[in-house]
Amino acid sequence: MQFKRSEHLFKEAENVILGGVNSPSRSYKGVGGGSPVFMKKGSGSRFIDEDDNEYIDYLAAYGPIITGHAHPHITKAIQDAAADGVLYGTPTIHENHFAEKLRTAIPSLERVRFVNSGTEAVMTTIRVARGYTGRNKVIKFAGCYHGHSDLVLVAAGSGPATLGSPDSAGVTKNIAAEVITVPFNNLAAFEDAMTQWQDDIACVLVEPIVGNFGIVEPAPGFLEAVNQITHDAGALVVYDEVITAFRFTYGGAQDLLGVKPDLTAMGKIIGGGLPIGAYGGRKDIMESVAPLGPTYQAGTMSGNPASIRSGIACLEVLETPGTYEELDRLGAKLEDGIQQAIEQYQIPAVINRLKGAMTLYFDVTEVTHYDDADRSNGEKFGRFFKMMLQEGINLAPSKFEAWFLTTAHTDDDIDATIAAVHRVFSSGEF
Ligand code: PLP
Repeated sequence: MQFKRSEHLFKEAENVILGGVNSPSRSYKGVGGGSPVFMKKGSGSRFIDEDDNEYIDYLAAYGPIITGHAHPHITKAIQDAAADGVLYGTPTIHENHFAEKLRTAIPSLERVRFVNSGTEAVMTTIRVARGYTGRNKVIKFAGCYHGHSDLVLVAAGSGPATLGSPDSAGVTKNIAAEVITVPFNNLAAFEDAMTQWQDDIACVLVEPIVGNFGIVEPAPGFLEAVNQITHDAGALVVYDEVITAFRFTYGGAQDLLGVKPDLTAMGKIIGGGLPIGAYGGRKDIMESVAPLGPTYQAGTMSGNPASIRSGIACLEVLETPGTYEELDRLGAKLEDGIQQAIEQYQIPAVINRLKGAMTLYFDVTEVTHYDDADRSNGEKFGRFFKMMLQEGINLAPSKFEAWFLTTAHTDDDIDATIAAVHRVFSSGEF
């Protein structure tokens, strides 16, 4: 496979777009460098790049494209929205329909607000929690990505429960001092943090199923205990469901797991591929937001008809009976096939999978929290990524990202992917 045109386009991009990419995760820095592939067309489970190479896609745009590329029902909804005018700056009936649809699927969303990205949604839930509780500090879990607002670009310090340190230039030490980062699935560390800072904690920010150091499920009872301890301390539980909402079930991870937060942030899938975010939760808390209350949040593009109608159409596709069972069946088939190859070629690797999402980690035996994922072999993953690309399989260019299945993937796609993994593993390079 040749990537001549992509390489040329990347050089051109580097002269005008910072780093050649509009989000750092799109660069190939995490997989040993090189020019990222420029895609020109997506259809169903497949992509065509600028060199006319074809790929089976497991990136799914980092999660949103759960129905596959250019799903006709979503495409029609976007075309209809465009024909009716893309932005009004007034309320529309579509927002009512969509908010009601979300609340029916995720009952904890007693009141909802639409915003434009997952970052905005999470950022606002933190402001709402701070306004409502009158407290400052936030607890989050190591390795979980919550967007690029200042408060969540804070890394763990050393030790199991520590005040954070800035994870990006431009995030001040004062901001970092308001964030406490503890390991996921480590209840003792969480309890310690709560005991130490409890009257200062506004909220605990949780990805109920982690999607950002691969797919990692909560240990049995972990989320329930986090809820109890947080509420006992008078703080709020905020779920970041930007990846998980409608990923594993028609609803949130909270519905799948039977746990209930006070506030939820969402994005990705609920826009059907167009920019969107949403947050919502308990009515009494949400009523603290303007125009009803003193916590401010606004947006020119928020609730724009194209994103909302695209999101409604996406959920309509996902409502089809059997959708999530089929994603699980294909996910299991993919996992089994790769596991068989792991055993056949004695590759030191482990798979974490939940339904239609999975991650393959090299040189670790188990991944239950961030340190495990961090220890996995990135250099090997980089080689795997590039060899799979040559095989026509498009994965996310990072050892921490998930593979996402879509409703457009077929048994043939899975068979072809497993065959590619066999060829790559039999190379003797792993
Ligand atoms: N929260 C989680 C769990 C995410 O995975 C992401 C993005 O990957 C975000 C928040 C930020 O969302 P966005 O990129 O739409 O701003």
